[in-house]
Amino acid sequence: MAQLDIQAKLAILADAAKYDASCASSGTAKRDSAGKKGGIGSTEGMGICHAYAPDGRCISLLKILLTNSCIFDCHYCINRKSSNVRRARFTAEEVVQLTLSFYRRNYIEGLFLSSGIIRSSDYTMEQIVEVARSLREDHGFRGYIHLKTIPDADPKLLELAGRHADRLSINVELPTVAGLQRLAPEKSAAQIEGAMGALRHGIEDGRDATRRYKAAPGFAPAGQSTQMIVGADAATDRDIVARASTLYDRYQLRRVYYSAFSPIPDASTVLPLQRPPLMREHRLYQSDWMMRFYGFAPGEVAAAADPATGMLPLDIDPKLAWALKFREAFPVDVNRAPREALLRVPGLGPKAVDGIITARRWRRLRLEDVARLTRSIAKLRPFLIAEDWRPTTIAEAAAPVARPRREQLELFAA
Ligand code: SF4
Repeated sequence: MAQLDIQAKLAILADAAKYDASCASSGTAKRDSAGKKGGIGSTEGMGICHAYAPDGRCISLLKILLTNSCIFDCHYCINRKSSNVRRARFTAEEVVQLTLSFYRRNYIEGLFLSSGIIRSSDYTMEQIVEVARSLREDHGFRGYIHLKTIPDADPKLLELAGRHADRLSINVELPTVAGLQRLAPEKSAAQIEGAMGALRHGIEDGRDATRRYKAAPGFAPAGQSTQMIVGADAATDRDIVARASTLYDRYQLRRVYYSAFSPIPDASTVLPLQRPPLMREHRLYQSDWMMRFYGFAPGEVAAAADPATGMLPLDIDPKLAWALKFREAFPVDVNRAPREALLRVPGLGPKAVDGIITARRWRRLRLEDVARLTRSIAKLRPFLIAEDWRPTTIAEAAAPVARPRREQLELFAA
């Protein structure tokens, strides 16, 4: 590998990290910058920094790879062994110094670190852990750290990673086991899920220990997340919703991220030539919210998909698609309906529903009262009954879908 200066390495390794979507910094423990030993980078109060985005997706974390060299050859990955890309590698110390200097310049509030696999899974994981250890122990760094972990690394290394990181993640990569076997044959679904199970126990034990003893060392307080690539294999949206729901239940994930597959240079012939519509990724995030915040069961979300193709509609959001399919559940009376029924109304979010429930304690709500709590009353009207409003028919709601339908492209057609 040619000798590169830090800036050249940064250009390569920040760009290479842009394919990873799983970098939100929600749910972390709050640390105080004013500790005994000083410390920098608290994620609350003064010192929170925003707006540095080397890759455009994650605006407040330095998001880089330790290296884009890899001994694996996953078909969908630009960093795979057989890929003809320029390679670079940071030392652990270089990543530490970059993180500190970017933080001091207010570019970032933390670090998201992933890596290709060099030499072995254990060796790579040791380097990743060393970055987090040095930031925390040698430099008193209190900022957010998200480490991407390697499923077949020694469990002791995963344990150490959890001691220093706020969040850990392991990518399931593809929505189906068959897809993983076909596109990443060196990876094992059983190993990935085994490691996710171990992280779940570590996180639960860590939470339990810190509840009992304040000084107990925490373990990944912001939990674990994962990422699925969408559109690289033939998995339908229905398959993806079902897999995400299983992962949430089994491993208590904080987030499942969906990343639309991007065709890569010199791509393998087993991959589709076109990327899926970005709207597909968006619809999957909306379906994820339906399960996590709106009380829909996975089967109900899947029912919003086209029965023939298993795909969610692209032209309307899945909550509206569900409502149009199950019109008998509407209209819902804003003055009497329980919270769960209100949450199913297209266009009503949890905040608006809570506002309705609070306001109706004092008086019967009219349509204009609901309008004040929401962004657009037009979308809601066909689904609601208010003191001064009763829709004649839910057919009004079909208006938005009267536009020509956008079809998902058939990526795997013969
Ligand atoms: S192991 Fe990770 S970095 Fe290596 S080829 Fe597979 S997806 Fe890419």
